[in-house]
Amino acid sequence: MEFETVIGLEVHIQLLTKTKIFCACKNSFSHDKNTHVCPICLGQPGVLPVLNKEVLNKSIKGGLALNCKIANFTKFDRKHYYYPDLPKNYQISQFDLPIAENGFVEINVDGKIKKIGVTRAHMEEDAGKLVHGVKSSVVDLNRTGTPLLEIVSEPDLRSPEDARAYMMLIRQIMRYIGISDCEMQEGSLRCDANISIRPIGETKLGVKNEIKNMNSFKGVENALNLVREELLLATKEGQEIKQVTWGYSLDDQKIFKMRTKENDNDYRYFPEPDLRPIRISDEWIDEIAKTIPELPSAKCERFISEYGLSSYDANILTQEIEIANYFEATCKSCGKAKESANWVINEVLRELNEQKITINEFSVTEEMLAELIGLLSKNTINNNTAKSIFARMVKENGVSPAKIVEEEGLSQVSDTSVIEKALDDAIASNAKAVSDIESGKYATAGFFVGKIMQALKGKGDPAVIGKIIAERFNFDPSLLVKKKKDKNN
Ligand SMILES: [Zn+2]
Repeated sequence: MEFETVIGLEVHIQLLTKTKIFCACKNSFSHDKNTHVCPICLGQPGVLPVLNKEVLNKSIKGGLALNCKIANFTKFDRKHYYYPDLPKNYQISQFDLPIAENGFVEINVDGKIKKIGVTRAHMEEDAGKLVHGVKSSVVDLNRTGTPLLEIVSEPDLRSPEDARAYMMLIRQIMRYIGISDCEMQEGSLRCDANISIRPIGETKLGVKNEIKNMNSFKGVENALNLVREELLLATKEGQEIKQVTWGYSLDDQKIFKMRTKENDNDYRYFPEPDLRPIRISDEWIDEIAKTIPELPSAKCERFISEYGLSSYDANILTQEIEIANYFEATCKSCGKAKESANWVINEVLRELNEQKITINEFSVTEEMLAELIGLLSKNTINNNTAKSIFARMVKENGVSPAKIVEEEGLSQVSDTSVIEKALDDAIASNAKAVSDIESGKYATAGFFVGKIMQALKGKGDPAVIGKIIAERFNFDPSLLVKKKKDKNN
């Protein structure tokens, strides 16, 4: 019997706000434990939470970007459970009237587009953290009251690869709209998964297993693969599938059993009496909708149609909105799309990677890169010179490429008499190469190109040099061009 896998994800993202969801404590990470706390987030009796409006606005923005219907009436509820990192013994969350419902996103797995339903997105407060030591554990409540948006998918994912692609897409969209940095190491994007298997053709869902608290793409895919193997094995051996909750350790890449459940948890939800329900007008929603930028998939398609980029290049350039904007500004400034794409992908991204910095911290501005590409496309400089100028631009903040060219006399030599002279010298002292090329070994032309470049201190115009060599030895210059193209591809 063949089985299909059914997966749904609950993704928690930390919202980027200055303060926490219900108090004025700073919403930022701190290594000093229990420093960003006050009576409200410590859950002391008699205090009253007040909703941070930024949390509401950012949640609406998130819901809209996930194609959800935003509620005109929403409220908070208490979700009751006991855990040492939860001083109130309940979490303020949303139950039956979430801020956003009925949305979808489209994932791309191996070129196939799949529509994944988003059941709901709701606001809630984060709990604190237990930090385990050798002899004792410490409760750190800095994270308590951090605003979260929990995004719940429909069970539309059919493989661990789908789940990974979905989680990556959620991260990309949330970063595009700027409501979360989704930094996985700091835990600002976390995910719980549920997974079941069923015979192909069956429409009823199988008994689901859960995997808790994963914070890496690789981890999600890996853990789901391991639990799927467990489910398939149990089915093969004729065992009844139990409702198990699993943990996953990224360090040794293993799953471990946390508990086996008989029934779903009953959290005894009831409406939060300390917070008023919220009415949201359509005008309010429309105002927020206007602040949503072009989203990744639309941008990627536009880069392909407007700039003639390959889908591969367009996909790389649209991973992060800042990179996409940098490319587009460069391209608009120099008018060369393909060249701009190549420079950003091959040189700029490499530099960012090596220096471990973001594009906002990068010393070469879009205008400067455009100027460099302009010099190259006007044949003022050759490709090698452009690369060495770029290296200087990276090191020296704000230095103009045109100025470097002028100051250091780096302009390309296309003066035919100078090139002819350098070729004469090369011919005079390299009899073997001359006889080779005359006997039809045109690859030897490369040797002469090298000699001439050397004489011109690397500043020769390769196209002119090639033409002059071809004329001198009487062969078709396209032989050289073709060779060069093959090498590039
Ligand atoms: Zn507080």
